[in-house]
Amino acid sequence: MADYDYDVLVIGAGPGGYVAAIRAAQLGLKTACAEGRATLGGTCLNVGCIPSKALLHASEYFDAAANGAMASMGIKVKPELDLDTMQGQRKDAVKGLTGGIEFLFKKNKVDWLKGYAQFQDAHTVEVDGKTYSAKNIVIATGSSVTPLPGVEIDNAKGVVVDSTGALELSSVPKKMVVIGGGVIGLELGSVWRRLGAEVTVVEFLDQLLPGMDMDVRKEAAKIFKKQGMTLKLGTKVTGVEVKGKKAKVSVEPAKGGDAETIDADVVLVAIGRRPDVDGLGLDKIGLELNQRGQIETDHDFATKVDGVWAIGDVIPGPMLAHKAEDEGLAVAENIAGMTGIVNHDVIPGVVYTQPEFAGVGLTEEAAKERGAVKVGKFPMLANSRAKTNHEPDGFVKVIADAETDRVLGVWCIASVAGTMIAQAAQAMEFGATSEDIAYTCHAHPTHSEAIKEAAMAVTGKPIHI
Ligand SMILES: Cc1cc2nc3c(=O)[nH]c(=O)nc-3n(C[C@H](O)[C@H](O)[C@H](O)COP(=O)(O)OP(=O)(O)OC[C@H]3O[C@@H](n4cnc5c(N)ncnc54)[C@H](O)[C@@H]3O)c2cc1C
Repeated sequence: MADYDYDVLVIGAGPGGYVAAIRAAQLGLKTACAEGRATLGGTCLNVGCIPSKALLHASEYFDAAANGAMASMGIKVKPELDLDTMQGQRKDAVKGLTGGIEFLFKKNKVDWLKGYAQFQDAHTVEVDGKTYSAKNIVIATGSSVTPLPGVEIDNAKGVVVDSTGALELSSVPKKMVVIGGGVIGLELGSVWRRLGAEVTVVEFLDQLLPGMDMDVRKEAAKIFKKQGMTLKLGTKVTGVEVKGKKAKVSVEPAKGGDAETIDADVVLVAIGRRPDVDGLGLDKIGLELNQRGQIETDHDFATKVDGVWAIGDVIPGPMLAHKAEDEGLAVAENIAGMTGIVNHDVIPGVVYTQPEFAGVGLTEEAAKERGAVKVGKFPMLANSRAKTNHEPDGFVKVIADAETDRVLGVWCIASVAGTMIAQAAQAMEFGATSEDIAYTCHAHPTHSEAIKEAAMAVTGKPIHI
């Protein structure tokens, strides 16, 4: 250690990087974390998970008051939108949580190197004109918005924006076009629809939410349409023309057909994210990217360059904060000589709309490619708690191996699907069968009973349908 300034130097303080830094320090390693942003917490805390959930939560209350959902329970209100206050509470949430990471760095004696880091060699980086050496360097630089060729994003102008710009809008657009029917587009589109925007989602594929189970994707289209979104599936955006404060989005069917234009006050480009390695100087350490622009690692998160590790959005796998966090823990433990493992087969994914859409493990389509499966499904309409709460939309689907009954995947659409999916992930992590879930006592009345009933349905014996 004597030759290096640090045992571990993490580049990037998102959920991957800050967790890796804190765990490394907890394990007694001298640790620094370089972060170029003005606040810690990365995409997730500053412009991702947290601010989007702050707006989703607040806009959900507004929607419930405005659309009659509260009136049906005997609460008559006529809501008035104070967007400044709503945006203020979003900023407060971000400030509180990013400040919390700064506190944790101090508590755990992690040095925050303020500025963007660039490799000089495999054990040295330059940050804001100073060089620092470390025995181990962890790349946790995350991801940034994938641009749409020919479409210029200008968050300051506020007409064609990315997710960061869509969080910051200072007024509710009359018409909003969301390019991309994935998680981020649907979450932010939902926020502005609830607050009064007419939202059109344009998706190149035939269904929303790529990567999720097909039953869930089809149901999602029905639910978002019912909520008032216009969906243009199987549709390609061919151009966006901005004139002053308005835009015209040109679209045509992906498989050919008549073109049309859609007027918009705001266009949100949400076609995905790509690994962020800009300015990192990977050429100086001879580290190449794969075809998708990602850094490849082995099972321990070590790259091909000795002493250099990588985690989070910058490596393959779903771009999710909890995946990055778990990799952060694992890489620190591996550096400390322990055994840090992440089971990439069991990483839940959640869409935080209302209802929520969540899944873990294999889709039915993917599971069938591997062999015979048994599927149990249970509608939320038959779940007593969901019914009582006026939340009829959704279902739970459990996919199990036909021979061993081992659970291969669980998919939920429910108001609290994001919370429900945790028990499915835990069950799968312990190698549960559908019978194990079916014979686990679930509290009544809870939405989670729908998971038990869907597991019972795998053998054809649910009680309430
Ligand atoms: C709108 C939106 C909503 C989202 N919602 C969710 C959600 O609800 N749940 C979920 O799981 N995921 C969500 N995500 C995804 C989640 O934010 C990412 O998966 C997660 O932040 C990835 O963590 P990370 O640590 O790999 O990288 P990041 O969080 O991207 O952090 C990387 C950090 O590295 C810094 N950096 C980059 N290069 C350098 C350098 N050279 N030197 C120093 N610092 C550098 C960057 O400034 C950044 O702060 C959302 C994303 C967006 C955009």
